[in-house]
Amino acid sequence: NGELGAPEQGLIIAHYGATLDLQRDSTAGGDIIRCNVRSNLPAMVTGDQVVWQPDNNGGGVINALVERRSILTRPDVRGKLRPVAANVDRIIIVIAPSPRTPVNLIDRYLVATAHDDIHPIILLNKSDLLSKAPEMQQELDEYKALGYETHIASATEVDGLQQIQQLVAEGNSVFVGQSGVGKSSIINQLLPEEDLKVGDISQATGKGKHTTTTAKLYHIPSGGQLIDSPGIREFGLWHTSLNDLHKGFPEISEQSHYCKFNDCSHTHEPGCALKKAVEDGVILARRLESFLSIRDSLDEVDMRL
Ligand code: GDP
Ligand code: ZN
Repeated sequence: NGELGAPEQGLIIAHYGATLDLQRDSTAGGDIIRCNVRSNLPAMVTGDQVVWQPDNNGGGVINALVERRSILTRPDVRGKLRPVAANVDRIIIVIAPSPRTPVNLIDRYLVATAHDDIHPIILLNKSDLLSKAPEMQQELDEYKALGYETHIASATEVDGLQQIQQLVAEGNSVFVGQSGVGKSSIINQLLPEEDLKVGDISQATGKGKHTTTTAKLYHIPSGGQLIDSPGIREFGLWHTSLNDLHKGFPEISEQSHYCKFNDCSHTHEPGCALKKAVEDGVILARRLESFLSIRDSLDEVDMRL
């Protein structure tokens, strides 16, 4: 109804089915506007940059989607991949000595980040408790040697917080990791208390409260943005294909080309290059173990390498 204002840029900070909340000018101080989307456009998610026009009721209409630099996806019940958040620049995999994160779970997270081609960072939190699992320091060094970015911090100490603030200071970050490793503690320290209350965003539009379990974008006062949802925190246990598996285990993928049989299962065949690479210390035995165990959990089709 009525005329629309001139087109503007905006940033999607939350979505509720067909309606989206966007932030004007894409900046922390920008007004929050509840918008509808023109029907010819693809599904939009938190983190998307858009072009929109204000209507004369305090709302707006989204006209165009700005090209995404990344997209975090999750399979629906039928296995079809759905976008969850857009323009995610890094996935911070939080691990801890207590509850001790199993290494094969770390490998699983790395496979999942490889699927969406989003930069993974392994953050060992609770460094003050490292004596409970001192071997984790070496595990972290091993990931570093494989080319992954790694950090150690304690979210409950000031130094640690500053370190984490630097990690997220630019672009959009998400935190993932098993329950109890300290994700909420980290996020609670990064964000002002009022940001974390559910349902506030929609109040700004005067159209009543809506709570959502889909992803929300938060501006971090010390710099950068955080995209978070209960579902995102469970990331890593979603999707795995053979292709992802290879991307998540680059050192194993590379060696597997040298197996004598090109359908080698790397379990019992003579001339298995992976077995030899483990004996020669070129790849870690535990990485091969976790590669094989994740592979065996994949669907039956096209499992062979
Ligand atoms: P989440 O399930 O990953 O969100 O983990 P929480 O943030 O709820 O943290 C679980 C517990 O670990 C809480 O009791 C925190 O206070 C504690 N915790 C978080 N970070 C640290 C840390 O760096 N050192 C220690 N010792 N405890 C921490
Ligand atoms: Zn082999």
